[in-house]
Amino acid sequence: RSAPSEQWREYRGAPTGTDLECEGWRQEAALRLLNNNLDPEVAENPEELVVYGGTGRAARSWDAYDAILEQLRDLADDETLLVQSGKPVGRFETHERAPRVLIANSNLVGKWDNWRHFHELEAEGKIMYGQMTAGSWAYIGTQGIIQGTFETLAELARQQFDGDLAGRVVVTGGLGGMGGAQPLAVTMNRGVCIAAEVDEDRIDRRIETGYCEEKTDDVEEALDRAREAVRAAEPYSVGVHVNAADLLEELLERDFVPDVVTDQTSAHDVLEGYYPSGYTVEAADRLREEDPDTYRNESLDTMERHVDAILELQKRGAVAFEYGNNIRGQVAEHRNHEAAFDFPGFVPAYIRPQFCRGKGPFRWLALSGDPEDIYRTDEAVLKLFPEKDHLRRWIELAQEQVQFQGLPSRVCWLGYNTEGEGTEGLTERARFALRINELVADGEIAAPIVVTRDHLDAGSVASPYRETEDMKDGTDAVADWPILNALLNCAAGADIVSVHDGGGVGIGNAIHANNHVVLDGSDLAAKKARAVFTTDPGTGVIRHADAGYEEAITEARESGVEIPMDER
Ligand code: NAD
Repeated sequence: RSAPSEQWREYRGAPTGTDLECEGWRQEAALRLLNNNLDPEVAENPEELVVYGGTGRAARSWDAYDAILEQLRDLADDETLLVQSGKPVGRFETHERAPRVLIANSNLVGKWDNWRHFHELEAEGKIMYGQMTAGSWAYIGTQGIIQGTFETLAELARQQFDGDLAGRVVVTGGLGGMGGAQPLAVTMNRGVCIAAEVDEDRIDRRIETGYCEEKTDDVEEALDRAREAVRAAEPYSVGVHVNAADLLEELLERDFVPDVVTDQTSAHDVLEGYYPSGYTVEAADRLREEDPDTYRNESLDTMERHVDAILELQKRGAVAFEYGNNIRGQVAEHRNHEAAFDFPGFVPAYIRPQFCRGKGPFRWLALSGDPEDIYRTDEAVLKLFPEKDHLRRWIELAQEQVQFQGLPSRVCWLGYNTEGEGTEGLTERARFALRINELVADGEIAAPIVVTRDHLDAGSVASPYRETEDMKDGTDAVADWPILNALLNCAAGADIVSVHDGGGVGIGNAIHANNHVVLDGSDLAAKKARAVFTTDPGTGVIRHADAGYEEAITEARESGVEIPMDER
């Protein structure tokens, strides 16, 4: 890969303020979001164009990055730019309400849809791994996943404990872009977190940004501090500089059974995501270059031990769940390990009931770069939904404890739900977006706000090892749904729409889509927001109703979602 682009060095993050480089705010938003994804404060390895999640990239090469910026700068209000695996490949006249940018990343035809073929094409510069929000320019750093992690653990605590994690120990691995949210999400739920991480720089980064409290090389020391915190019922987090598989085996030897065990190492990618035991990071990186087959083998050996240790801890009483990195699938597929799926994934265990209601993590960024704009949106969301105590608790905790990275932004979970007085039949997400658009129009917010979301959402993913694991009607692998979701987002007028393969769980294991809407205060933005934030969560409701989930059928009836052939 060539040296980083001069332009990127000059930007070092998204441009801010109200002066435009592009012809309109929608193109400008795309330019700022791409640069925000590659802000050194936001991305894990921006010099390699890597944003997060193993090798999830924002552009295919530095030349492609330069070319995308050049296209965006003079893209007209009635044109659409096409980006194929991180490279701009076409530009057409469309119309004003159409998306300005359409993105497809990492997609392969079924029979060839695997890492081996992907890596061959990648080595020839013909494809790029877009992860989820890396290649769709919607990543906002660890602050993006923190609420999802917080919500998942809060739901776990409601189901398994007394509503929070006070006095409970959560053991996990991986302190990367997403996994780095775990210690803070545990302490926000009042628990104690011990997280294994092989790369000391990653632990330091989480400590510097307030996501983790302390670090150590010594497992015994970590356990002592954790026990102390449990005795005092104080929240506490520690990053342990050790391989996650080794940590879990040491816990078993010492007969230390945590309350919860999970993992967010990048196990979805055997070669470029997961580190084998017995190597320093540098030695493993050398082995990967020199002998990728041996690396793959060693990596799978460690993963197998890792899964066995999770299963043994589960047997001894820990609550175990997979945190969306496909570690079970890797071991089941490559080592014929039938028991690997004996612990559940986090979606069926904790998230699906929310998906049935069209609820999912949705996020917004202030293009001004001014944190005050986000604080105004915080006020607006709390005023719109005064009955949501949990939302209030989240916004207050986020204001206190979550540092902004790159463009100031916020995440929260809102859904469909058009019921109640004064909603005028609008969904929660649409009501929020329309209110923000008004604040921009009135000049109370300095510059447009972009609303976007993770690909992990109610109606936008087919991922049998994660979001659609164990669907009631067996349709885990049906990818028509995310494709319909992306097409509908275009029809409804989203400003950027993307479809990717392989996010979270690796190539061949998932198809998913996302959207962006730029709220610039105009009537056009209001029309788009009303349509997109109805249809997008609406696909979550219909997808789950179609699969036979009662909550989704109820939501459809209560909120008036039209489902042809609904005979129930
Ligand atoms: P990342 O690549 O930025 O970080 C992974 C971290 O794991 C790195 O710091 C690496 O050093 C560490 N690591 C790798 N192997 C290890 C081992 N054996 N022991 C200890 N540390 C090890 O990735 P990320 O963005 O943090 O994502 C992590 C995983 O979670 C990915 O598989 C991703 O697809 C998945 N993910 C889950 C969700 C979710 O909602 N649950 C969301 C996004 C991503």
